[in-house]
Amino acid sequence: MIVLGFESSCDETGVALVDSSGAGVPRLLSHALHSQIAMHQAYGGVVPELASRDHIRRVLPLTEQVLADAGRTLKDVDVVAFTRGPGLAGALLVGAGVACSLAAALGKPVMGVHHLEGHLLSPFLSQDPPEFAFVALLVSGGHTQLMQVDRVGSYEVLGETIDDAAGEAFDKSAKLLGLPYPGGPALAKLAAQGNPLAFKLPRPLLHSGDLDFSFSGLKTAVLTQSKKLGAVISEKDKADLAASTQAAIVEVLLKKSLKALEQTGLKRLVVAGGVGANTLLREQLNAACSKRGIRVHYPELHLCTDNGAMIAMAAAMRLQAGVEMVNTAYSFDVMPRWSLGKSAVGVAAKVT
Ligand code: ATP
Ligand code: MG
Ligand code: FE
Repeated sequence: MIVLGFESSCDETGVALVDSSGAGVPRLLSHALHSQIAMHQAYGGVVPELASRDHIRRVLPLTEQVLADAGRTLKDVDVVAFTRGPGLAGALLVGAGVACSLAAALGKPVMGVHHLEGHLLSPFLSQDPPEFAFVALLVSGGHTQLMQVDRVGSYEVLGETIDDAAGEAFDKSAKLLGLPYPGGPALAKLAAQGNPLAFKLPRPLLHSGDLDFSFSGLKTAVLTQSKKLGAVISEKDKADLAASTQAAIVEVLLKKSLKALEQTGLKRLVVAGGVGANTLLREQLNAACSKRGIRVHYPELHLCTDNGAMIAMAAAMRLQAGVEMVNTAYSFDVMPRWSLGKSAVGVAAKVT
């Protein structure tokens, strides 16, 4: 089975071809990505209308590129997959519209994929894919969740953020420090030159006893600290504040992940989503997990943030696992808000 997958939930247009023939992990044949970061940078964040229009501009050339790179044509495609949600409605509609039109023209089934399932399964695109079952730490721009993943389609939320996501904490703190969008990588880069112990910042819900997170207080603490430093913050203070912020976020993610592993008794951790690209988080998780005999799996660095490969992969893995989700009626909708839980994926995503 050859799956053509589209991602357009936010500010990345991604297209990919994955081959799920055979019994092993589906194989990525090719993928192409256009990031809109440069376009949105002037506005300090994603402008939804501009995002939708740019997806329209990019999606077909990227599709042609992906087919050419894999030496295939549209006739080789067996299933068309797209991100059905969550994300920006207008942006999602571009991917959904293109995917369903193509599928209808080809007379092939179409599958709406949950964006977070794509992130979750993205480590299966790496050279060293995980085995089920595992604990997943999903840390993206809009979500922060710990999950127990027993198999494809079985996602139990163990804990999640009650307010901001980890990526949002990175982005908002970075903005307060005057760093460009997207703030996460910029803050991490600056933090490398700073002292993480310089400022005392809160570790929200660290000792709450459950697996939930809260990051909005941290952003307020960064604001308070930066105000105390005055109108012009020295480069050293800025780097120290960045390092202290990163340390606070990473410590909470680390401790809660270890707690989830302890609670479930599972010996495998999968980290997914954009914040999974963070070097300090990787170093600390690796060190703590190796001490405990726990294997940690990550997506390849360039597949941590949004891409089409993870969507085609999730669709291919669902098909392989026999999770029924194909649609041949070509009527489609998108789910701008959509939680990834057992019932949500099993029921709401089942379109016929
Ligand atoms: P969601 O998947 O929840 O809908 P999203 O698609 O916007 O949100 P991703 O593409 O997974 O999120 O990740 C983007 C987030 O990752 C941004 O918040 C960005 O700042 C953060 N990020 C990317 N690289 C790093 C890094 N090296 N360190 C910290 N954060 C990072
Ligand atoms: Mg993005
Ligand atoms: Fe994402």
